[in-house]
Formats: sequence, C-alpha cells, structure tokens
Amino acid sequence: MKLKDYIEEIPDFPVKGILFKDISPLLANFEAMNYVKTSFIDIIKSYNVDYIAGIDARGFLFSTLLADALGVGSFMIRKEGKLPGKVMTKEYNLEYGTSKMSIKKNINLKNKNTILVDDLLATGGTLKCAEDLINITGGNVLFSLAVIELTNLNGYKNLNSKVYSLVKYDD
Ligand code: AMP
Repeated sequence: MKLKDYIEEIPDFPVKGILFKDISPLLANFEAMNYVKTSFIDIIKSYNVDYIAGIDARGFLFSTLLADALGVGSFMIRKEGKLPGKVMTKEYNLEYGTSKMSIKKNINLKNKNTILVDDLLATGGTLKCAEDLINITGGNVLFSLAVIELTNLNGYKNLNSKVYSLVKYDD
C-alpha cells in the first residue's frame, strides 16, 4: 500500500511556510484506512494495553478505531479549554510560540499502560506533552503511533518513549 498516494500536500497551510499533510483522501478510502489500522494493530498486539489515547484532533480519528479493534477503552488529550470538569493541563512548545493540552483527572491511569496516537509527528512537542500528562498522573506510556513522520525534524529525539510511524517524509 502506497500511503503517500492518500496524503495530499498543501503548501502554506495553515500559515505560510508549512507544507500541510492532509489525510482527507486517506480517510475517504477504506483499503488505505484498513491498512493503517492493521499496521498499527500489528505493532500493538504483543503488548498488554489498557488505553489508547487520541491527540486533539486528528488523533481521535485513529484512537477509537484501534481501541475498538483491541477491545480496550480510549481517552482524549485535548487542547486547553475543550474538556469539561476537572482537568490537568500542561504547556508545550510549538515551532512558534506555546500551546496547552489537558486530560481529565477522573480517568485512573495509575499503573495503566497507554498508547498515544496522532496523525503526524513533526517536532514531537505535542506527543511529549501528552507523555508528560500521563506520567504526571502515574500512568505508563508504552509508545506512540503516528501515521506520518517528518523525519528531518527529529521529533522522536524529544520523546521519552518510542514512536512508530507508517509513512516518512524528509522534505
Ligand atoms: P509537533 O508537536 O511539532 O510534533 O506537531 C504535531 C502536531 O501538529 C500534530 O497534531 C499534527 O496534526 C500537527 N502538524 C504539525 N505539522 C503538520 C503538517 N505539516 N501537516 C499536518 N499536520 C501537522
């Protein structure tokens, strides 16, 4: 399966200088999505997993799919201000500036094994923040999954745990 055929590259979106990798064609194609799902499940299947955590927002497109296939629960790691009730929030660095993400406090992650999933790994700031939020609550991150990796940014170096990606761009 040539996943790059299902990823559209859009220059200068959402801001000038960013070559946006749009996964809309991937989502629209059953075989391509099924390939992503089965590839991720192959990586996960030998692990004892309690939760799949989806990263706001495109990570959600994969997290519930994987959780359902594995027979486990999932939860959301969301941009600040999106989750109701008591939350834990952490700031992280973007290429320009900072942002914040939150998880709900009422999910008991203590000694639970979580796998993180997002559509794309760039600098790794987002996944690192997600790792930190889970670790602060006493949870364990097994590893992260990303459909796409921008390898020239070396995002994996910023993470505490391993990251697996299915399609790599070095431009
Ligand atoms: P980073 O924290 O730098 O690893 O950025 C990863 C997050 O930003 C992911 O949630 C992606 O959805 C988004 N992102 C960063 N760069 C791109 C890009 N070139 N195309 C699409 N999404 C991107």
